[in-house]
Amino acid sequence: MTIRPILQYPDERLRGKAAPVTAFDEDLRALARDMSETMQAAPGAGLAAPQVGVAKRLIVMAGAENHEDFDDRTLVLVNPRLIKAEGEQFFEEGCLSVLDLQEKVTRASEVTVAFQDLEGRERELSADGRRAVILQHEMDHLDGVLLLDHLSRLKREIYKRRLRKLRKEAGDD
Ligand code: ZN
Repeated sequence: MTIRPILQYPDERLRGKAAPVTAFDEDLRALARDMSETMQAAPGAGLAAPQVGVAKRLIVMAGAENHEDFDDRTLVLVNPRLIKAEGEQFFEEGCLSVLDLQEKVTRASEVTVAFQDLEGRERELSADGRRAVILQHEMDHLDGVLLLDHLSRLKREIYKRRLRKLRKEAGDD
């Protein structure tokens, strides 16, 4: 297992649309394992393949409900599709690819996601509360959508300015 570097906004690779996974092979398992380790080391609650520079539709999230999914700590969702979204909730979110940003974002409060496991079997997962937020956040990454895109234009501009300042300060060290 390898901890992979997590790409940081404004890296363009975070903005692409990821391709469906078609090969359920050892390479896919290795990628999922690396992503799981990378997420746990960060630490984070979820991670999408584009965040480690792989443009594939694969996400991992902490806290598997079912051990047969992968291991006892990570749930792996291949080619996830939102098939049901209901209600509304307002949660504070952060992102491992967006430095120093915590913002409240409106999301569906209950979701059902269809996906494939690492063997290619069709599965479904229903979630609410924070798990529903994580699912929607990570699935956004597969379409190049970032937490920033959910903010108002003003908040986004303020953040961009703050980020430039942060980076400049870091560069001056
Ligand atoms: Zn994220």
